[in-house]
Amino acid sequence: MTTFTDLHLSEPLLRALAEEGYTVPTPIQAGAIPHLLQGRDLLGLAQTGTGKTAAFALPILHRLAQHRVPHTAKCPRVLVLAPTRELASQIDESFVAYGRHMRLSHAVIFGGVGQGRQVEAMRRGVDVLVAAPGRLLDLINQGHVNLNSVEVLVLDEADRMLDMGFVRDIRRLVAMMPKERQTLLFSATMPAAIAELASGLLRDPARVEVTPPSTTVERIRQAVMFVDDSNKKQATLMLVQSPKVVRAIVFTLMKHEANKVAEFLCAQGVNAEAIHGNKSQGARERAMAGFKSGAVKVLVATDIAARGIDVDDVSHVFNYDLPNVPESYVHRIGRTARAGREGWAVSLCDAEQRAWLRDIEKEIGQKLPVFMDHPFHSEMASSSTMRPPVLGSGGRGRQNGHGGGGGRPGGQNHGPQRSGGRPGGQPSGAPGRNNRRSSGGGYRAA
Ligand code: AMP
Repeated sequence: MTTFTDLHLSEPLLRALAEEGYTVPTPIQAGAIPHLLQGRDLLGLAQTGTGKTAAFALPILHRLAQHRVPHTAKCPRVLVLAPTRELASQIDESFVAYGRHMRLSHAVIFGGVGQGRQVEAMRRGVDVLVAAPGRLLDLINQGHVNLNSVEVLVLDEADRMLDMGFVRDIRRLVAMMPKERQTLLFSATMPAAIAELASGLLRDPARVEVTPPSTTVERIRQAVMFVDDSNKKQATLMLVQSPKVVRAIVFTLMKHEANKVAEFLCAQGVNAEAIHGNKSQGARERAMAGFKSGAVKVLVATDIAARGIDVDDVSHVFNYDLPNVPESYVHRIGRTARAGREGWAVSLCDAEQRAWLRDIEKEIGQKLPVFMDHPFHSEMASSSTMRPPVLGSGGRGRQNGHGGGGGRPGGQNHGPQRSGGRPGGQPSGAPGRNNRRSSGGGYRAA
């Protein structure tokens, strides 16, 4: 088995890794680090949760420790581009953690906050700059950042950057960098546009592909509950109140829905915070800090806001809404079962989201077990032949739900977590009753 010492990382890094409690490199680290230490370009197919941040941060820090040069104002030596401010902050934190025994200067740049501190950090000069593309371009245009000295470029979560419309910005940024540089591109998926971007940017790259999405997904016990739209809040309350829920992320499609769900949960005595793009940076940071410390039990998030949330012990992911993009399902549930732990992912599906469920099951190559043993089960939502009702009529078809009033449903927690001890972790209501058990197909990496 490869160890970090086998990878010939410098002593200050090995010390920091030992302090972090990392003993064995993850597959992406074992695969990528030797190539990166040799200076090669890299195409990394890996998603968050695989240890990919350390896979690029460690060899970069090693290089910086070996080849010290005095800082030049505004000119970073290493640029990491990330799609969101949360991810950028987390990458920056990782550099700080792994680089704690070396003299590292670093900065993180993203929008939504004042630019004063970012400009000041660049004026002093940094080794490592982690940035979201939009604000970085702003600061370059204002003359506060110069990319002439970039030796290493990392594009993290390239597929997300593509989804978020950053590819043109990335091309503009790359055009400002020296051609002689090391370039790393990480992506969870490889759509044609990313393959094209990679072939334009990378020179004879080593390609490292890890399938921890599958191992991660295999560790996640998944279930779907068919409920009418009008019962989703109560069903969510029931789920988050289950005793095994330590820390949960609830996903909604819309920002206003995230607010409503968080408000509802708070009104019912559950400490919940919404996190989405309309929240100020300060509010997002406070919510994340509360979530990390355990003061906030439930984070209600939209997809983009939740991207890259790096909290290890998220015990449950609940999909209040199914995502309309199947890949997002995999990204969402990957927030749980991290760092070798187990986790639950339970999705609420109303009649209108049946088609999305089919797409997700196709994407993950398995049928999700149905959890029916709860007060909100809706036959209408579960019937695959039923035409979806028009928007807003979801509540009419409720067969088995509670009244819309507050309070805990039946005073009981029937959440699937209760069946945690069952073989395979199947939800207790599933076997023998319309149970669409896994067809055995593993996760197909997209
Ligand atoms: P990432 O994929 O970079 O978001 O990392 C996922 C999580 O795994 C982070 O919380 C890291 O702290 C953790 N991690 C990364 N590498 C290792 C390792 N070799 N051993 C244990 N945990 C790790």
